[in-house]
Amino acid sequence: MSLPAVLLLAPLPEFLLQPLRQVCTCHDYFHAADPAALLAEVGPEIRAIAMGGGSLAPISLLQQLPALEILSVFGVGYDGVPLAYCQERGLRVTNTPDVLTDDVADIAMALVLMTSRRLGEAERFARAGQWPQGSFPLAHALRGKRAGIVGLGRIGKAIAQRLSAHGLSISYYGRHAQAVDYRFEPNLHALAAEVDFLIVACPGGEGTRHLIDASVLAALGASGTLINIARGSIVDEVALISALEQGTIRTAGLDVFENEPHLPPALCQHEKVVLLPHLGSGTHEARLAMAQLCVGNLAAHFAGQPLLTPVI
Ligand code: NAP
Repeated sequence: MSLPAVLLLAPLPEFLLQPLRQVCTCHDYFHAADPAALLAEVGPEIRAIAMGGGSLAPISLLQQLPALEILSVFGVGYDGVPLAYCQERGLRVTNTPDVLTDDVADIAMALVLMTSRRLGEAERFARAGQWPQGSFPLAHALRGKRAGIVGLGRIGKAIAQRLSAHGLSISYYGRHAQAVDYRFEPNLHALAAEVDFLIVACPGGEGTRHLIDASVLAALGASGTLINIARGSIVDEVALISALEQGTIRTAGLDVFENEPHLPPALCQHEKVVLLPHLGSGTHEARLAMAQLCVGNLAAHFAGQPLLTPVI
């Protein structure tokens, strides 16, 4: 019996592809020289999609896959999946929650430390041999500062734990108050106005597009820092650049961007801004566990077993 056919929509690592090939026949749409020709050839037999957290599965593509049953996302964010369409068509969707939570929260904490203590600038200063000409300027302490988390989910809570250990007080914004010890603030502008660090950890997608706009940045104010480890789409990058240029906010620490992997030159020019190349879950440990879930969900589906980590 032939293995079920899976369409690859992202450049997936070998430690995922190797076990995937044991349970599926892989067709690489992402690297195909002629994707349309590949679809014409194998589209009717594709039963699964494997894709990255940041990749897109447009409805126009899914409509060309009549035998499609399941989309397995190699990532926790599934904002690239048209969920309502999948639900209507009875398609299953899986993601890779929990196994990356601590590593992403570590990067958020690193961005808080790097922005407050100016570590990126200080490292460049030391490397450039500038120390003999004078000491590096003083930076800001973390203890006693206030942090506001936008989206207190798995990652948001792990960030809150780390911030608490560093002596910051925590409030959060989301669609619902939760049974936690942190203070819920149902008004995003009010949260931004009262904190030193506004930390974005909610899902991307249309529901949160440009949630952090010029007015939220104005509320955050001149002693405020924006941290984003969630999705680039959540922050209006043009408004952010303008806020940085005008001193509306102090600085920003960003792991995600609107047009990854391309960064706006205006953002790169800001010495105080810390920019990371979307490496929140970028550890051997997290990516291997994510790969096991991504493949495990497809294997479970085709074996008629319950999905390991279903979204729908
Ligand atoms: P999660 O457990 O589902 O948490 C998401 C939180 O966001 C929930 O607490 C939810 O609370 C809140 N939320 C949802 N919609 C919201 C809205 N419109 N406004 C404000 N808050 C909203 O997800 P997670 O595992 O923590 O992951 C969060 C996100 O991190 C992912 O979706 C992904 O995009 C991103 N991520 C980034 C990296 C990276 O490498 N940088 C890695 C992994 C994940 P309510 O329901 O109460 O609103």
